[in-house]
Amino acid sequence: MQFLEHFTPELVVSSPGRINLIGEHTDYNMGYVLPTAIEKNITFSFKKNGSDNECRVYSKTYDTGFEIDLNAIAVSKIEWENYILGVLNEISKRTDKVRGFDCVVESNLPTGSGLSSSAALECGLAFGLNEIFDLGLSKIEMVQLSQTAEHTYVGTQCGIMDQFASVMSEAGNVILLDCRSLDYKHIPIDLNPYKIILLNTKVSHNLASSEYNTRKKECEEGVSVIQKKYPEVKSLRDVNEEMLLSSKEGMSETVYKRCSFIVKENDRVLAMVDALKKNNLDEVGQILYRAHEGISKAYEVSCPESDFLVDFSKDNPKVLGARQTGGGFGGCTLNIVHGDAVDDFVTQAAKDYKEKFDIDLEAFEVQPSGGTHIIN
Ligand code: ADP
Ligand code: MG
Repeated sequence: MQFLEHFTPELVVSSPGRINLIGEHTDYNMGYVLPTAIEKNITFSFKKNGSDNECRVYSKTYDTGFEIDLNAIAVSKIEWENYILGVLNEISKRTDKVRGFDCVVESNLPTGSGLSSSAALECGLAFGLNEIFDLGLSKIEMVQLSQTAEHTYVGTQCGIMDQFASVMSEAGNVILLDCRSLDYKHIPIDLNPYKIILLNTKVSHNLASSEYNTRKKECEEGVSVIQKKYPEVKSLRDVNEEMLLSSKEGMSETVYKRCSFIVKENDRVLAMVDALKKNNLDEVGQILYRAHEGISKAYEVSCPESDFLVDFSKDNPKVLGARQTGGGFGGCTLNIVHGDAVDDFVTQAAKDYKEKFDIDLEAFEVQPSGGTHIIN
């Protein structure tokens, strides 16, 4: 794109990806999650271009860009453009202060790997525009409008966790977020001498978006059955194992399994907070293994590649626990590995994974990091 030839940004924003320590698929069931931003991020460079309504956005990652007329925002056929357009559409409902701008997007965050590059893309744009056009949006508004953009323009009925983690995280902490009230608390996390190692399966089975929406429907179906006995129940967050069991007859086996996972997963978030506070690292690991079992067998959002890596980790006494992180069907597994054993673990995992799936595994350490911020 021509604007790139003489582009000197007036604002550079870093918008991070995230991991979720525990609490998978609980967000759209109004429950708890425990995510944190990581240091891998998308960088946005912005410049106002003097026009009233003409914008240009270029992704270095995809080496492609597109032009936008702010007076004619509409859904595109190109997926990544919809994250941008969806956010602009949501902002336009709240303020008319946005004017023409140019923007370059660069990333060291793997896409489609369960680290929420999508939320990083949405929130980084909202954050940057808020800054250069002085829109007066609060952080929570940016989080919420980004989530809505993903619903309306991309078509994924995501919960609020990813956007919340990307914007609101603090270094050295995970966020205990109540996805109903949006009350949250930063919980210090210190796993020393263990490290958080991500193994990227490099697969993202394209079931992810449609199955995601199916899971959401299955949970709603479960709630409607439970409500017959417990009318006060609004979402699975309000259900305990006993209540679920007493409503089992009215639901299909599949719906029961899905609900059972969510009810247990929600409890696991609080158990994890407790384990972190007590510095009980063995328990931290065991919770992860129990969660993966549920992800794989009850919620059925894993895949052979993720299951293989989690099973592999169980053979290594220097690994406390592991599970697939993110929405599912591939992406990364999160492993709690003793610092002394990381190199061996990664080397052996890569070798076995290559033998089994003929895919080059990618492995990296992540640190709980701060949320979206200005670089310069
Ligand atoms: P995840 O959020 O786990 O990375 P998603 O499928 O939800 O996976 O989002 C990935 C999508 O986000 C990509 O397919 C692309 O449309 C968009 N995206 C992410 N990073 C970039 C980037 N650097 N440039 C353009 N689009 C991006
Ligand atoms: Mg995503």
